[in-house]
Amino acid sequence: MTEIWAIVVGAGSGRRFAAELPKQYHLLHGEPLFRRSLKAFIDHPKIDGVLPVIAAEAAECFAELCGDLSTMAPVHGGATRQVSVARALEALAPHRPDAVLIHDAARPLVGPEIIDRVLEALGTYRAVVPAIPVRDTLKRQEDGRIIATVDRTPLVAVQTPQGFEFTLLRAAHARAAANDASDDAGLVEALGETVHLVTGHSRNLKITDPEDLGVAHKLTATSGVPKVGIGYDVHRLVDGEGVMLGGVLIPAPFRLLGHSDADVALHAVTDAILGALGDGDIGTLFPPSDAQWKDADSAIFLEEACRRVTQRGAAIAHLDLTIICEQPKIGPYRPAICARIAEICGLTPETVSVKATTTERLGFTGRGEGIAAQAAATILCPV
Ligand code: MG
Repeated sequence: MTEIWAIVVGAGSGRRFAAELPKQYHLLHGEPLFRRSLKAFIDHPKIDGVLPVIAAEAAECFAELCGDLSTMAPVHGGATRQVSVARALEALAPHRPDAVLIHDAARPLVGPEIIDRVLEALGTYRAVVPAIPVRDTLKRQEDGRIIATVDRTPLVAVQTPQGFEFTLLRAAHARAAANDASDDAGLVEALGETVHLVTGHSRNLKITDPEDLGVAHKLTATSGVPKVGIGYDVHRLVDGEGVMLGGVLIPAPFRLLGHSDADVALHAVTDAILGALGDGDIGTLFPPSDAQWKDADSAIFLEEACRRVTQRGAAIAHLDLTIICEQPKIGPYRPAICARIAEICGLTPETVSVKATTTERLGFTGRGEGIAAQAAATILCPV
């Protein structure tokens, strides 16, 4: 199996921002840019590990803002970007990765689809870079006067993550000492190796000045068209050792019966999100007839629904869940369920509401034959 690591480089001092903090620690909707960039790779199922590169003097800042994330211990960068990446490659060598992705911490809006494209192309090529067409007309200028119009047809603007066979990139950096290329592809090109392009995205912008940060805020604003989806699910109760509800195992002398772990609460939330996206339902995406979902952790289903939200450039504004049963008592587990759902969806717990009710001993839930759950998801979709 291929071992793939991501290096997220945030060792710069970002002097174009007037404030004290380097730009990669500025906040986008309450979350540091660096943290968002790291999470994009931590959350990606095909990335085996993530290594941050930080400025030595920012160690405390990094620990405070990103220290809780599951990354390798950060490597301290050097005087140039090239030295920083070379140090990170050195630190990764004992892990013997097959491939490595290098990403700028200042590109916090990188989506899973770009990472997927780079990874897919890495199956065929040794060096892969995402790029977008140059939209603006380009001019050559001198002293504020246009000298010539540049033909932009052969030009592209390259982004990160840039993906490389590990040994190739190490060789490129070993040769490059002191060559401060502005990207890693440049060093690989210098070896005479072909670098292949995949489609990037204009949304994957690099935040270099406060104006860019403003654009990023707008791109990710919690505005847009609100769409509401609802979900409903029921599973039967049988003798067992604990009920899985909302991703939390609640001790009980019974369990829920189903093909997966039968987490009725996560199923309802998943269906609510899929409903808001108009993406069918959990049964069509994960058919019970498919053996791979046997006893599956239902968090997988919810993660897939959330991945689809991100892929559309949408955002979950709020989730509301009601669990309907006589037993077990949900109250004591409510904060844990709330925290777990928020964790799976990458939300703050304040955007997840968990409620419970009985049905006054009426009906199948009242008789304890099963547990029902219903959920509503509010999603803000780009206009
Ligand atoms: Mg179900």
